Amino acid sequence: MIEPILRFMVKFDLGSIPVHNPSLGPCWEWNAGKNHQGYAKFREGGRGSRTVHGHCFAYEYFVGEVPDGLQLDHQCDNKSCVNPWHVKPVTGSENVFRAPHRHRNKTHCANGHEYTEENTSWVGPSKFGRFQRHCRTCHRIRERNKYRVEMGLPVDTSERLREYPKVLRGNPGTPQNPEIDRMQ
Ligand SMILES: [Zn+2]
Ligand SMILES: [Zn+2]
Repeated sequence: MIEPILRFMVKFDLGSIPVHNPSLGPCWEWNAGKNHQGYAKFREGGRGSRTVHGHCFAYEYFVGEVPDGLQLDHQCDNKSCVNPWHVKPVTGSENVFRAPHRHRNKTHCANGHEYTEENTSWVGPSKFGRFQRHCRTCHRIRERNKYRVEMGLPVDTSERLREYPKVLRGNPGTPQNPEIDRMQ
């Protein structure tokens, strides 16, 4: 039987260097099967044997055992990366409280409100165990306008939102509103 590590080494290519953390160096981009969450799948014992996460296999081979109770978190935010030096053992909550990478560096919401501590609420966890930031100001404006529409009052457009909820876009069953009609 071929050594697991030899089978492993041909299942990835050198990928790109994470933009948000170039000092990590290139990802090891998995070129074989992935699970539905996007993690590398590797059969340690060959065909028919149990499947492990590729990054876990690499970590245990090159770095060492994952300490009890900790899970490996991708510092490169590339789930299919199997570079053992791109993952770090963290507690579940550390893992969960990292915002998704695409949004992590954003300082403002889509409508330009700053993500300060008071203006940020965390929503989640998603099925991937992540929490998401939500803008409290946007939420407040949406709720206020939803109420105004229900009451038949004109919506407050002093603070315009890029994304109005359906109820404000005059869908059937919503009282028509002159302000809304003008916005469309
Ligand atoms: Zn990586
Ligand atoms: Zn906002």
